[in-house]
Amino acid sequence: MRTSFLLLLLTFITACSQVTSKTDSEVRYLTVLHTNDNHGRFWHNEHGEYGMAARKTLIDQLRDEAKAQGHSVLLLSGGDINTGIPESDLQLAEPDFKGMSEIGYDAMAIGNHEFDNPLKVLDTQQEWANFPFLSANIFDKTTNKPSYQQYKIFEKDGLTIAVIGFTTTDTAKIANPQYVGGLEFKKPTTVAASLLPEIQQQHNPDITIAVTHMGHYVDSNFGVNAPGDVTLARSLPKGMLDIVVGGHSQEPVCMAGENKADEAFSPGKKCRPDQQNGTWIMQAHEWGKYVGKAEFKLENGQLTLLSYELLPVNLYKQDSNGKRLTELANEYIEADQTLKSILQPYQSRGEKKILGKLGYVNGKLEGDRSKARFQQVNIARLIISAQMEAVNADFGIISGGGIRDSIQAGDISYKDILKVHPFKNRIAYVDLSGQQVLDYFAVVALFPPDSGAYLQYKNISFAKKDGQISNVKINGEAIKLDKTYRMSVNSYNASGGDGYPQLTNNPNYAPSSKTDSEVLKQYIEAHTPIDIADYEVN
Ligand SMILES: [Zn+2]
Repeated sequence: MRTSFLLLLLTFITACSQVTSKTDSEVRYLTVLHTNDNHGRFWHNEHGEYGMAARKTLIDQLRDEAKAQGHSVLLLSGGDINTGIPESDLQLAEPDFKGMSEIGYDAMAIGNHEFDNPLKVLDTQQEWANFPFLSANIFDKTTNKPSYQQYKIFEKDGLTIAVIGFTTTDTAKIANPQYVGGLEFKKPTTVAASLLPEIQQQHNPDITIAVTHMGHYVDSNFGVNAPGDVTLARSLPKGMLDIVVGGHSQEPVCMAGENKADEAFSPGKKCRPDQQNGTWIMQAHEWGKYVGKAEFKLENGQLTLLSYELLPVNLYKQDSNGKRLTELANEYIEADQTLKSILQPYQSRGEKKILGKLGYVNGKLEGDRSKARFQQVNIARLIISAQMEAVNADFGIISGGGIRDSIQAGDISYKDILKVHPFKNRIAYVDLSGQQVLDYFAVVALFPPDSGAYLQYKNISFAKKDGQISNVKINGEAIKLDKTYRMSVNSYNASGGDGYPQLTNNPNYAPSSKTDSEVLKQYIEAHTPIDIADYEVN
């Protein structure tokens, strides 16, 4: 026990990577600060946790401390700045990119959610930002040239640092094909194997960093996802890549031992980053909850990690079940007043937009708990119509528990929609044979009323008797057992939520990047005024 702990400690302290260095025996220090997966959280939450204004105060302080110790500083983001909070989404993440520019980010990886909007929005976002968006593995299908800046060389107090971006190849699957159809997401391992030696030869960097949005999967167990940071680090000759600053899996990368995650990590606790094949891999959970801080020493071409911390940004301590306690995990960090005054108008504007009119309905869309879990309701017809349209499905389902409120007759705002769908479930489809549809409905159609599982459905009909279903019709026609039908479903029910059969491991299951609230909003905007007669339950 003791020996293995010592060994672990020893590996942690002495593990270094070989850098083909300049003939320079001077000792140099680099502090890498990092965040990832901002997802629209420029503003703090209702408990006052995280938020860019407090993040800036913390980062300014860390930068001053590092400089006072003679360290160079690099501030990086693992990407996915976009999507998650309507106040940000409705302003195309302008406050987030401008906030990051004020904080002084040096570079970020392009994440899959950077493609939730048309490509020209990402170009505009690059104009709002004063730091480069990096990805080495996104290519234009027609020209076979890189679509974005692949890397940047930083000269910091005599240190040459190469920062290369990588984006998950899953982006091709999960982003809107309308936007990414012209892009090829090449394998990061392949691109790195050819590009890194090229950069080495051209620029002879002292330190090489990959800023990635690919996910950290312990021991390279990436499952249904595309391979992530561990796979990348293992694929390269040792010493070619010193550091990975990652994102996408949205976890604090804290290890309890070799290829073993530290399940006990919570805000304020110690965190040891992963190390694979000589490469340090770090990730700071999500939303700016933490700022990661890694201090490195470079001596005779050897890079040593001196210390690592995940510093909470006004997070509360948690109990062992992850429940928020009343005590802060860190000393309270004041908001930077200049940045706060820049962001405040965006927050106010965002709040106003949520209350703005999207459409109109000429009667009540019934979604009360006492109805949606007991009988077919018109709001479910509307919701499923929206989801079917979003993924081009033949029919669709939702469990009654997935409907959280009614929409009253009159004007409809985004706020009304967020009350119906507060969970941000992603919309998906699955292609099923007629036989598979029958097997699925043999389970879901029998969930009893007065439960969240109670089935709401559209464009499919059946008779129910003695725990059996019969006379199944899709779009008015008798089901054919060998025909393929597309069903819309949300990620919650598809993952087994409310006891629904799991669909996520079906090879014909395809999640989209759209959430239920976005899909309903788009549908109402496109079809307003909504006539409740079109969604009547018969
Ligand atoms: Zn992502």
